[in-house]
Amino acid sequence: MALKFPSSVEECVYFTRRLIKDGKVVAWVFKELCPKCKKSLMGKPKEKGKVKIRAKKYVCESCSYTLPKEEYENTLTTNVQYTCPHCKHEGEIQVPFKRRKMQVFDEEEQKKITAEVVRFQCQKCGQNIDITKKMK
Ligand SMILES: [Zn+2]
Ligand SMILES: [Zn+2]
Repeated sequence: MALKFPSSVEECVYFTRRLIKDGKVVAWVFKELCPKCKKSLMGKPKEKGKVKIRAKKYVCESCSYTLPKEEYENTLTTNVQYTCPHCKHEGEIQVPFKRRKMQVFDEEEQKKITAEVVRFQCQKCGQNIDITKKMK
């Protein structure tokens, strides 16, 4: 499988690079077409030309169709390129962009924190690899 890399962050709802112990993860989620008119990519609403990053909804630029943030994001696909922190396997995988709130151990802060997690399993050793996003 050859994953398509985004040519700019603009194409993505989400893009991250993480180092996880001895492994690493690059993950990105492409914006997808409006399910109603299929003409434009759904994106965060804009105000005076600026994207409102914290908006809780996505809007179609062509027909103004609006979807709540979670509802839209749950239909998307996460593209992941990784080096497994457990067995060093290098792989690529696609998983649903479904984030769960979980308690994870934060290496930087050396304590448990609540984070939104996209979890997937290494294709070789089957162990969990988490892409975490700290809650603010
Ligand atoms: Zn539309
Ligand atoms: Zn592995």
